[in-house]
Amino acid sequence: MAEETIFSKIIRQEIPTPLLYQDDLVTAFRDISPQANSHILIIPNKLIPTINDVDQDDELTLGRMITVAKSLAADEGIDKNGYRLIMNCNQHGGQEVYHIHMHLVGGQPLGKMLSI
Ligand code: 5GP
Repeated sequence: MAEETIFSKIIRQEIPTPLLYQDDLVTAFRDISPQANSHILIIPNKLIPTINDVDQDDELTLGRMITVAKSLAADEGIDKNGYRLIMNCNQHGGQEVYHIHMHLVGGQPLGKMLSI
């Protein structure tokens, strides 16, 4: 059984965090430590620790994460100039919170994709 992270508490609003979106499958809120002018996290309500733990039953949820990201990008006014969606996996991917999440970042030029 995977251990809950702070994100489960945010989903249940046990830690009050303004939500930008929530439905039966996903929740979105601003990153506490933004790396760009716009930095939003879109997460599944179900605890999935890493992308390695995703299975076929999660396909609807993963698709919803993208359609929600698209809508939030439009709400933020960053859709026309563009943005980046990022999902980190495990140590080499730089994952810090073990509840999968999609970073929506934009609002400025983001440069090259990788800096190693
Ligand atoms: P990762 O490195 O796992 O891909 O990204 C985790 C992200 O979660 C980081 O960008 C970090 O700033 C964000 N984060 C960690 N704890 C909290 C929190 O309590 N509230 C919010 N809003 N974001 C958090």
